[in-house]
Amino acid sequence: MAERRFHGIAASGGVAIAPAFLFTDPADGEAPSPAATGRVEEELARLHRALEAARTEIQALYDAARERVGEQEAEIFHVHAMFLDDPTLTKQVEEAIRRGESALAAWRQAVEAQAAMLEALNDPVFSARAVDLRDVGARVAAHLAGKAHALALPSQPSIIVARELTPSQTIMLPHELVRGFCTVQGSKTSHVAILARGLGLPAVVGVDAAVLDAARDAALMIVDGETGEVIVSPTEETLAAYRAREAALARARTQAQASAAAPAITPDGHRVEIGANLGGGGRAEAEQALAFGAEGVGLLRTEFLYMERTAPPDEEEQIAAYAPYLEVMAGRPVIFRTADIGGDKDIPYLNLPAEANPFLGQRGIRLSLARPAMFRTQLRAVLRAGAGKRGVKIMFPMVASVEEVRAAKAHLAAVRQALEAEGLPHAQDVEVGVMIEVPSAAILADALAPEVDFFSIGTNDLSQYTLAADRTHPEVGPMADALHPAVLRLIKQVVEAAHARGVWVGVCGELGGDPLATPVLLGLGVDELSMAAPSIPAVKAAVRAWPLAEAQALAAEVLALASAEEVRARLEGVERKGL
Ligand code: PEP
Ligand code: MG
Repeated sequence: MAERRFHGIAASGGVAIAPAFLFTDPADGEAPSPAATGRVEEELARLHRALEAARTEIQALYDAARERVGEQEAEIFHVHAMFLDDPTLTKQVEEAIRRGESALAAWRQAVEAQAAMLEALNDPVFSARAVDLRDVGARVAAHLAGKAHALALPSQPSIIVARELTPSQTIMLPHELVRGFCTVQGSKTSHVAILARGLGLPAVVGVDAAVLDAARDAALMIVDGETGEVIVSPTEETLAAYRAREAALARARTQAQASAAAPAITPDGHRVEIGANLGGGGRAEAEQALAFGAEGVGLLRTEFLYMERTAPPDEEEQIAAYAPYLEVMAGRPVIFRTADIGGDKDIPYLNLPAEANPFLGQRGIRLSLARPAMFRTQLRAVLRAGAGKRGVKIMFPMVASVEEVRAAKAHLAAVRQALEAEGLPHAQDVEVGVMIEVPSAAILADALAPEVDFFSIGTNDLSQYTLAADRTHPEVGPMADALHPAVLRLIKQVVEAAHARGVWVGVCGELGGDPLATPVLLGLGVDELSMAAPSIPAVKAAVRAWPLAEAQALAAEVLALASAEEVRARLEGVERKGL
């Protein structure tokens, strides 16, 4: 069979080479629904038995997910359980049964009608809810049809190829046999991408749907989670090249891991702090980050706590969620980024008005300032979780102006005062910083610097806003390349403005975890790099390979180039893995 190549969004790093397992939903090919028995009471009882059985399964899934990937990811199953308890949905089905429908037909119609309604709203979040609803719907339907919800699952090591993977499907997969993921739907922040990263498996999402047909009969495929390349039925030559690449990556990982615990110091003695980007995985995630060599948490994406649920977390729940990070990090820095909701991270229960351009809308600090009660609850929780602990830092996302920082700090001061008045213990000596991810903030870094203790450059957003290219868009997304000289020049400007005013600068966007970019960031004077924990060993190794003066010369050189391609080519030509 001829080799076929596809390109998608690189959602989780590493290379996988394995047979394709085409994942199909069992609900797709089910036999037509049996006719109603004509006995209404019996059908009603069947409905309730099926709902109960599904409830039990979902509870088991919740437990499994919590153990494997963490509390926050598991929350999705609470959402599933809520659909089962939705009185409107149940009532609709019961009424249809009383009209003579079978429980199965009535259930399917009601679920489909509601899912279609959610989809018609044309909003990514409601569309995601529709996926969840169909997921639950299929589970109940399987019980009503008298079948267990048996998914066809791989029985040998495989790459999972699917149009879309719901969270429950992902959890039910035998993880020990999964080598990687390739999906048609999805962005870097989709369920499957987050789970793949949590499991340390390569994933490419947003791949052309033709991959499904191509993979159907393929004996072998390759998923390159570093570049977004997917190759179906590779030729011997391609295969050999990728096997070498896979082996090199594994070797590099092992070697880098061996010295991951040591600090990242250049051969001429310049140290860079290395943090982990975390969020959602709690204590286990923080412990894993330490094992990868994290020296702290450079970015805690607290918005994960607000997702996949029906109401915002209250103060106590937030304290319980934040405290383990501080406990595990034991005095090392933990940067709590206040909830960055909006953009592609919508939260249905907040009832945010639909926006034509959510990335340019009510997002991050803008939303927090518009919902002060929710914002203050979060600030209280962070401060209280940090009582008696060191290392607590607070950072505001999506800042575009000085007024926003002042307003956010005023809330923080008010919260601190209230805690004092209430006699509640809370963190002292908290550094306050802002993310630099909007071009206006980068350009005005000199004006922002006197307001804060540190900056952390969010290169993911800074690139998409600088290059006007939606980072989640399957086609234009790759244009938002953080190695674009326009972005690098902004970083330089930020570092200079900050250092002139005694403010330290980190980079917590994906660029911070890309060893190719390490010498440039080092050369630009960045003080801290924060990244997905598995990237830490390789980045530390790259720091150790570049004397500061050489890194500075390289940075000056690439800043003068005209395009991201040129920068990339130049950096690939001089890459040092330092192993
Ligand atoms: C960024 O924008 O670079 C960043 C780190 O924040 P997020 O990816 O969560 O938007
Ligand atoms: Mg961002």
